[in-house]
Amino acid sequence: MHKIDIDLVEMTMDVMKYTIDRISSTQHKIGQPQKAEELKALVGETITKKGVGGEYAFNLWKKHLAKANVPIDHPRHLAFVPAAPTRAAIMFDLVTSASSIHGAYWMEGAGGIFCENEAMKWMVSLTGLPKGAFGVFTSGGTAANLSAIVTAREHWRENEAFKGEKGLIITSIGAHSSIKAMAKVADVDILLVDTEDVMHGKDLQDTIDNLTTHQRRRLFAIVATGGTTNAGIIDDLEGIATICEKENLWFHIDAAYGGGALMADSVRPLFKGIERADSITIDPHKWMFSPYDCGAVIYKNPELAKQAHSQQGSYLDIFKDEGAHGFNPTDYQIQLTRRVRGLPLWFSLATHGTDRYKEAVERGIELAQIAGKMIAENPNVELVRTPSLSCVLFRRIGWKPEDYTHWTYQNHKKGFALVTPTKWKTGNTFETVSRFCFINPDTTENDIKMILDSMV
Ligand SMILES: *Cc1c(COP(=O)(O)O)cnc(C)c1O
Repeated sequence: MHKIDIDLVEMTMDVMKYTIDRISSTQHKIGQPQKAEELKALVGETITKKGVGGEYAFNLWKKHLAKANVPIDHPRHLAFVPAAPTRAAIMFDLVTSASSIHGAYWMEGAGGIFCENEAMKWMVSLTGLPKGAFGVFTSGGTAANLSAIVTAREHWRENEAFKGEKGLIITSIGAHSSIKAMAKVADVDILLVDTEDVMHGKDLQDTIDNLTTHQRRRLFAIVATGGTTNAGIIDDLEGIATICEKENLWFHIDAAYGGGALMADSVRPLFKGIERADSITIDPHKWMFSPYDCGAVIYKNPELAKQAHSQQGSYLDIFKDEGAHGFNPTDYQIQLTRRVRGLPLWFSLATHGTDRYKEAVERGIELAQIAGKMIAENPNVELVRTPSLSCVLFRRIGWKPEDYTHWTYQNHKKGFALVTPTKWKTGNTFETVSRFCFINPDTTENDIKMILDSMV
């Protein structure tokens, strides 16, 4: 059906033209979301018995629907954690789709999984974890964090003494929202150390010492952050590692955003202690320039992940035949059928070399330093704290929360920039401030200047 009914050549040309235009454009617009009803009014019925035709549907996409997105790779998109996938990675994302690879088992996906594993070896080498450590690509940081914590919990509950217990984990309020979300999914309780700044070993030890006997019995893991999403703060990984070893707790590090910075010599020492983790989350779709979606979870002892996640079923036995032997990504995380989503990363790394990656990450850190300086020299604004990794928190002197909202909205409406407010907690107060997060190495100093100048 789909193989014969369309003019394949024409559609291929259309798609390639669009793709090339899109990824080579430096001036693409920041789009505007629209209500579903508005979009419906623009495009009408598209799913019909006979189909509306590829050319027609593609035109609807170009004319209306593409414009209702806010592309995350725009150089003045500095909100949330933006992205800047390489052209090589995007092109190979097309190859990944065209190759129809089922990436769960080596038997079906050997070639693709081999490439993923080459990229993964490099990622593992960045962490400094001991020999034997390895990981898999996941749909994102949330899935990686969940896979890690389920592994930790299953390992803990292997001990008969803890069989019926509900687990407990400790993290800080600086941790990403997905930690709470995955604790809910895994049905474990979560305790938050009350700091949005660095979680020090001492804060953690105090929290542990204050647990009730029953809570202490239920505690099985600590989650530290290697680059908080809000402010780029790296917890005291060394101090926390020592406590986890002493207290016999699983040590998970969520470096979904910050993991890319392991490449950067300028900040690598801040991650000291990461090599002592039991599991680490890194999102290549954040600071490793991969297209969505591509996260990763790395384990010091992958065998434990396999015990937790390996699926059994008579329909799956064939994959365990001789000749199909190899690494099965499904065994190490929560997903069975999976895209070989590490393949675009592999191609891009192979194309450019890891030095270029390192330079691009260093540039993001440099942009944060430059922005910090500009803010210090501009009388209208001031830094909330020293920039960390590629995050900059700053306030517009005299602004109320609604001023930030209005400014964000105006800039977005003009298609000029997306810079959103956030909150920063000191003591018991939450202050509304503004925030930059730099990922795209093509963001310029002038982009930053123009954004700051718009804060009038
Ligand atoms: C983005 C982020 C996540 C969630 O990752 P997704 O890929 O969005 O699922 C988790 N932790 C941190 C620190 C993050 O920055």
